[in-house]
Amino acid sequence: MNMHASDMSAMGWAKRGEQPRIAIIGAGMSGIAAVVKLRQAGYTDITVYEKASKVGGTWRENQYPGLSCDVPSRWYSFSFALNPDWSHRFSYGPEIQAYMEKTAKDFGVTDIVQFNTAVTDLTYEAPRWRLTTDKGDVEYFDVAISATGVLHKPSFPNIDGLDSFAGDKFHTARWDHSVKLEGRKVGIIGTGSTSAQIVGAITHKVGTMNVFQRTPQWMIPLPQKEYSSAWKWLLRKIPALQRMTYRFYSTTMAKNFGAATTGDQKKLADIQDACTKHLNEAVADPELRAKLTPSYQAACKRLIFCSDFYPAISRDNANLITEGIERIEPNGIRTVDGKLHELDVLILATGFDAGAFILPTKVTGENGQDLGETWDGSPRAHRAVAVPGFPNFWLLEGPTGPVGNLSLISISEHQVDYIISMLNKMRDAGLDAVCPRQDAYAAYNKAMAERVPQTVWASGGCDSWYFDKSGTPNLYPFPPQQYLDDMHRPDFAEFRLIEDVAEDRELQGAA
Ligand code: NAP
Repeated sequence: MNMHASDMSAMGWAKRGEQPRIAIIGAGMSGIAAVVKLRQAGYTDITVYEKASKVGGTWRENQYPGLSCDVPSRWYSFSFALNPDWSHRFSYGPEIQAYMEKTAKDFGVTDIVQFNTAVTDLTYEAPRWRLTTDKGDVEYFDVAISATGVLHKPSFPNIDGLDSFAGDKFHTARWDHSVKLEGRKVGIIGTGSTSAQIVGAITHKVGTMNVFQRTPQWMIPLPQKEYSSAWKWLLRKIPALQRMTYRFYSTTMAKNFGAATTGDQKKLADIQDACTKHLNEAVADPELRAKLTPSYQAACKRLIFCSDFYPAISRDNANLITEGIERIEPNGIRTVDGKLHELDVLILATGFDAGAFILPTKVTGENGQDLGETWDGSPRAHRAVAVPGFPNFWLLEGPTGPVGNLSLISISEHQVDYIISMLNKMRDAGLDAVCPRQDAYAAYNKAMAERVPQTVWASGGCDSWYFDKSGTPNLYPFPPQQYLDDMHRPDFAEFRLIEDVAEDRELQGAA
């Protein structure tokens, strides 16, 4: 029987007996992981869209001094591209970016990326996705995967006079390398992980370092270590050793940190003790120590691993300013006590819009359902990877996934394995589309909401970027290993397994 083009397009790839056309949005670490693992599973018709001119995501965007990853590099690695050459236990940003670029090149990912191309619109036309780019190109895909990262949209503080500042001013994720810091009066707003690394790295060379702190942060020492050439040689010779060290860090971090944040009070107390000891030992001045002491539980905000901040803020040329900011003026920052803190350079270490995910790309699912409106500032997803009403659409590092101080590379890889299981199911059962069932999604999110109060993120007495508009930390509240294990035992009963989209539409219309 001859099939008309329109009939063909309405029929899913699995029934056509073809490869699915897969679009991946974002060429950061989760996009790279997705391409490699999908190909290894036999899915080869893939296009990656990347708004920038290089792969690397957060490691491409963040170029501030002192940038490093406070997750051990042996674990913050692709499982398929373990790296014997990491220079440090916690490697620095440029080295991680080089690793991203090398892995993407070695595994042929770079070749399939459409660089400098932002996806502006994704619209579901059952069973496919119509994808539109900022160049006006339109393409159709059977599967769309969002790999846009969690923290990619800089957040600018809503402070009066921000635009009036006459000196140099930039957000940490848009570092202006042309600005000289040596000998100048520098101000930084914010004391999160980013600020801690910057203050630790630049205070010794600036004229004055003014740190504007709204809320103090707990910091645990970073057990940094440079690897010897002999150790790198050994790892190169014995790849099994690399796998062992990967497993060692993944188990240690999940068992300790993952458990502490999700309800293990003994482990949480150990973290608190380590932070308190760090502060007491590293900051001699009692007045400064008092200002730096948080009133909430350690690990409530994302825990900062940093050994450089306390020595830096204790220097004679550093000031910790805890009075609230009244406004920003051309010459500096005026605090509520009326004092003007004169500045040549203003650094905004004010974090990111953590609720964006794939937004502002407009994503329209079944029956014209808009993803941004569906989320309405409180993004949720089924098992952090799928949303009811958005068939054949997947999120990597989506809402309610495990984040914390874990290796996001590892989490992305597990999520890709889950997506592969779903594609295999579609292929084997000749399905047009799959989509999480509303009741399964609701039950899953209800269980999470019930569990969240037991986490330190909710009970620790702090505010943080983990909280969404609903006032709930948007994180996986059970021990992270449970999530990773679940990614390998998908329950297909949680999904609408749609054999025929036309029939499904009729059924839904009748319902
Ligand atoms: P962040 O943790 O959200 O910190 C933002 C800081 O800006 C906070 O101190 C916040 O104060 C302050 N702030 C925001 N708006 C303000 C305002 N209007 N007035 C005064 N202060 C204001 O952002 P981040 O430091 O960029 O870190 C974000 C995340 O990136 C981290 O939690 C982590 O997940 C990731 N990161 C990871 C690494 C790594 O090594 N793996 C390094 C850097 C960043 P409040 O606390 O009072 O809100």
